[in-house]
Amino acid sequence: MPSTQGQLSKYVAIFAGGTLFSRVLGLVRDMVWARYIPYASRDAFIFAFRLPNMLRDLVGEGALNAAFVPVFSDALEKKSRQKFRELVSAALSAMLILLSVLTVAGVLAVPILINGMTLLEPLTGGVSISPERLAFLTTLSRWTFPYLFFIGMAVFAMGALFTVRHYATSSWSPALLNVAFIACSLLFYDRLPQRSVKLNRRNIFARDRNRCQYCGKRFPTSELTLDHVVPRSRGGSSTWENLVCACVDCNVQKGGRLPREARMSLVRRPVKPRRSPVLHLKLRSPKYQSWKTFLDNAYWEVELK
Ligand SMILES: [Zn+2]
Repeated sequence: MPSTQGQLSKYVAIFAGGTLFSRVLGLVRDMVWARYIPYASRDAFIFAFRLPNMLRDLVGEGALNAAFVPVFSDALEKKSRQKFRELVSAALSAMLILLSVLTVAGVLAVPILINGMTLLEPLTGGVSISPERLAFLTTLSRWTFPYLFFIGMAVFAMGALFTVRHYATSSWSPALLNVAFIACSLLFYDRLPQRSVKLNRRNIFARDRNRCQYCGKRFPTSELTLDHVVPRSRGGSSTWENLVCACVDCNVQKGGRLPREARMSLVRRPVKPRRSPVLHLKLRSPKYQSWKTFLDNAYWEVELK
């Protein structure tokens, strides 16, 4: 099967296209992560994912294909297509067994491996990890470890496909991992336990969309105040359910009374927001950019007690 100039260009184009597509998706994945996944969670996931990836480098790609591809091509060129099929099939069975054993052993050995990695921390200049975080990383790594099995099989298939000069599948398939990352991050992330949204001035104003919760009018941030629905003097606490945005006029009118005593009512019942990214999105909109001019972060982000 002599490879002509035209064929070569075609293969290069297929590969370049697939790689470019995968990279673009990688960028989208990073953007999705940056926006929706808190740094600590992302960090933990990347750490857990590093383990099967290290083994992938050891057993996968280079080593295996270096061993298989020449044998496969040899069978295809010197013997028959039937012989080639038999050879691939036999190697596939061997790989299935090898990868299954490795994966099961890996899942079982995760605590040892993680401990080993943390023992190396002083050498690699990492920070020490608390026992709770270590337990969490162990669980997470057990879930990510079977990646080794699937990527191992995919890499094996790639080698066999290369032999028969079928390049398209291998060039596009890495993109699937990023598609899965993006889809899972968007669809499932908020089902996981997460740190609750911080109770601070900025988040309350964002939740109430800069609207006075008594007269319902929207004001620039500088003209809004925080109001305790049940006044502190009456035992009202600083909680999501008891703090609202109020304009200066409404706040003065209400004074130290309950809304009903002041014959005022709330536009909306104040609740705790379920997740902060929505607020972050809002905060990014040009409407709120004017905040920056007088924003004192310490004032706006201090936790309310
Ligand atoms: Zn008002």
